[in-house]
Amino acid sequence: MRSMNRDVYHVVRRMNEADAKDRTQNSILADKEDELKTHRQKIVYMIRVLWECLMEMGVTREDVDRKMQEIEERGWTINPSGYYRMCPDCGKKVFDYTSRVFEATCVYCGTVVPMYPGDIDQVT
Ligand SMILES: [Zn+2]
Repeated sequence: MRSMNRDVYHVVRRMNEADAKDRTQNSILADKEDELKTHRQKIVYMIRVLWECLMEMGVTREDVDRKMQEIEERGWTINPSGYYRMCPDCGKKVFDYTSRVFEATCVYCGTVVPMYPGDIDQVT
């Protein structure tokens, strides 16, 4: 009986450990989901600002379609791995993963780098 109690104890302990591990993984996934939501909201906001600026300047939807076609012909496509600029101070890649709009900070030297859509150098 004592042996069986010890077996049950170990089984319950392993179940609790597995449950704790699942909770940790779920917490990491929730953090990633929040990060993606922030990034998406930032993009939607930037597009809204640019769209309204363009419309106020008299740009038409046909102009936008024509420009998209031109950009696609230059090889730009939607890429889930992100956009970056080269840091003007240290030359390292600065990724646009922050919640700030139109700027990011170089993780190597701390330089604040403008990240306006027209400034983005490359797609990874
Ligand atoms: Zn830098």
